[in-house]
Amino acid sequence: MVGGFGKMAIDALFPRFCLSCKREGQIFCLACASNWIAQSEPFACPFCGIRGSARACLSCREGTYLDGLVSYAPYGNPIVREAIGHWKYDGDRSVESTLRQWIEQSRDRLHIPLENFVVTHVPIHASRKRMRGFDQAEVLSGWVGEMFEMPVETLLVRSHKTKPQAKMQHEKRRVGTLDGIFEIHPNALELPTHILLCDDVFTSGATMDAAAKCLKDAGVEEVWGLVVARGGKD
Ligand SMILES: [Zn+2]
Ligand SMILES: [Zn+2]
Repeated sequence: MVGGFGKMAIDALFPRFCLSCKREGQIFCLACASNWIAQSEPFACPFCGIRGSARACLSCREGTYLDGLVSYAPYGNPIVREAIGHWKYDGDRSVESTLRQWIEQSRDRLHIPLENFVVTHVPIHASRKRMRGFDQAEVLSGWVGEMFEMPVETLLVRSHKTKPQAKMQHEKRRVGTLDGIFEIHPNALELPTHILLCDDVFTSGATMDAAAKCLKDAGVEEVWGLVVARGGKD
């Protein structure tokens, strides 16, 4: 953990540059943060990408568990990808206000009737959370709960370690191969019927679908996903 003087020294050695205009200072300078809007993705089936609805399409519904997915920015956009990378892999929390702003700006993308839903997150492994100091999906679920005035609960634990997504993108991954990496949190005594599952990025969907399967196997009726960015088809 680096704080106080140590952090100042690191900031001086490794100055930050605005991801958008490249000016030295912050990871997103004030001018860029207030002007830049992440282009929203069209509504599409989370698994095959067929456009028209955020709900999983009829043919993908067989064999998958996630009912639908809302994303706020395309992961293909280099600014979006870099911002999330700084947050997740470098642990730079100065980018959080910008990410939160992106979601706030396009809050109307969430079309499900939220009254019934409880917000939760796709957890990282406890040891990874200790190393990073925070769980980015948990942070996101907190924002979503505040923004949409929804209850937030921790319902899942990650039981096995998996490699970070970015390192896995060249390996063959399919929906269903991560079965069993999640368990219901021991403190979650009574599960809600409708869940909004938050994560930072959705690529193949294998991780989020494994989390949705765990919840549905435990009796949850409907599970929607919410991510900052979606990677599209692998
Ligand atoms: Zn800038
Ligand atoms: Zn589909």
